[in-house]
Amino acid sequence: MLRLLSIIFLISLMAQPACKSPELTIGKWQDGLEIRRLSPGLFIHTSPINLSNGQVFPCNGMIFINQGEAVVFDTPVYEKDTEKLIRWLQDEQQVTIKAIVPTHFHDDCLGGLSIFHEAGVKSYSNRLTYELAKSQAEVLPQTLFDGSYTFQVGRESVECWFPGEAHTKDNIVAWVPSKKVLFGGCMLKAVGAGKGNLADANVGAWSASMEAVKKKYPKLKLAIPGHGDSGGMELLDFTIKLFNDQISAIHQDAKHLCNHQFYGFRRVSAELPIRTISQDSVAGQGLVPQ
Ligand SMILES: [Zn+2]
Ligand SMILES: [Zn+2]
Repeated sequence: MLRLLSIIFLISLMAQPACKSPELTIGKWQDGLEIRRLSPGLFIHTSPINLSNGQVFPCNGMIFINQGEAVVFDTPVYEKDTEKLIRWLQDEQQVTIKAIVPTHFHDDCLGGLSIFHEAGVKSYSNRLTYELAKSQAEVLPQTLFDGSYTFQVGRESVECWFPGEAHTKDNIVAWVPSKKVLFGGCMLKAVGAGKGNLADANVGAWSASMEAVKKKYPKLKLAIPGHGDSGGMELLDFTIKLFNDQISAIHQDAKHLCNHQFYGFRRVSAELPIRTISQDSVAGQGLVPQ
């Protein structure tokens, strides 16, 4: 009997893939900030947004760390949650935050931008994000790119890419080639999600833009949406289907209200110095302003 038990124990040990690190979760998004480690160096940060109807809704962002450097995609909506995220990265992980990248111009991407700037972190965005944010945001991204941009992070890289209009006219996705992980932001829907806030959307182009993402990253292993659960290629297929055949039917549901109009951003015209970097920049080249 004892022998049988030890064989079962050995088999169960062998069944666990030795190279796979366990998923790790720190905090709860309902309390302000949740950080989930998916694999070494790859994290999802999730924080709340309070909607005007009293609902509280979780918003995802992505963190990629390699060799002591980090790039963060999307800020938490609120400054206090953003402070927690920066403290965790700088104090606990002891990494240098190389860049913060809002993936579109809504508050669940750039609400905490001023806190990153105060911490000395440089911000980068699609030029269209800057243009759209100008009319509503207090603080704007500092360095702009057109179309795509690749960050060198330690020995690895992360690519940003604008696949076309969808949830907004400026939405980009981020791709970690070494992990085959896509951060789709709010243009990527969790399976079963509604269409969300369509106030700034292009529902007619959405499916085609998502088809372009699918075509560009056919080998993806993990897809992270702006809200809700991650998964695989089925999130892209779900999103494509959701906006196919329904182009004329523009309905808003209450599930995704990440737009500024629901919780009042002050309009402040901002005149900030802008650095411009060219399209398809090679990793790291000309990236860091002196
Ligand atoms: Zn949005
Ligand atoms: Zn959103």
